[in-house]
Amino acid sequence: MNLILLGPPGAGKGTQAVGICEKYGIPHISTGDILRSEIKQGTELGLAAKSYMDAGNLVPDDVVIGIAVNRVNQPDCAKGCLFDGFPRTIAQAEALDEKMKIDLVINIDVKDDDIVARLSGRRVCKQCGATYHTSAIGDSTVCSACGGELIQRADDNAETVRNRLAVYHQQTSPLIAYYSKKGLLGEVEGNGGIEAVFEAICSIIDAKK
Ligand code: AMP
Repeated sequence: MNLILLGPPGAGKGTQAVGICEKYGIPHISTGDILRSEIKQGTELGLAAKSYMDAGNLVPDDVVIGIAVNRVNQPDCAKGCLFDGFPRTIAQAEALDEKMKIDLVINIDVKDDDIVARLSGRRVCKQCGATYHTSAIGDSTVCSACGGELIQRADDNAETVRNRLAVYHQQTSPLIAYYSKKGLLGEVEGNGGIEAVFEAICSIIDAKK
C-alpha cells in the first residue's frame, strides 16, 4: 500500500509516520529527512537545498522529485511505502502519479496558532531524530531515548515558521482538493494527542486494506 501523510509543518506527520511504518511494515520516506542528511554530509545537493530550507521555502520541484523517485526505486519500497512531507506541490503530486499508484492520502488537520506553538517549542535529538516539546521537557538538552543532544531545528524559529505556514497554505494545501477529487482523501483531526491521532489514522488505513 502506498500512503501519503499530508498536513501543515508541525502537524505530527513525522511522529505518526514512525508508528504507521512500524505497524504496517513499510518504509518511511521523508524528503525533509533526506535533505537534512544531505546537508549533514555536505553534499552538493545539501548545499543547494540549505538556503531554501533555512528560509522556510520549498526546495525546487525538480530536485525533490529526483530525490523521491530515486528513493522509491529502492527494493524496500516494492510492497509499498509512506510519504511524509512529499508531495508538497501539485507538480510533485503529478510527477508521483506518473511514477506509482497512490492508495490513500491522510490529511492531519491542525490550526495555524497551534502549529506556531508546537514548532517553536519543538526540540529534536541530533543523534536519533526523536522529537520533544519544551512544555514536557523544559530546557533539558538530553534525549531520553539515546542520550544525544537536543537542538532546535534551524527552521523552527518563529519567523521561519510563519513563512513555512504561508508556503503551506499557498503551495501545499491545494493537494487536499487534488486528492479529494480522486477519492483518496481521509481526514484526521490532529489536536487529539499522539495516541488518538494514531488510532484514527490506523482505522482509515484498515478500512482501505
Ligand atoms: P520537513 O522536515 O518535511 O518539515 O521539511 C523541511 C524542509 O525541507 C521544508 O521546509 C522544505 O524546505 C524542504 N522540503 C522537504 N520536503 C520537501 C518537498 N516535498 N518539496 C519541497 N521542499 C521540501
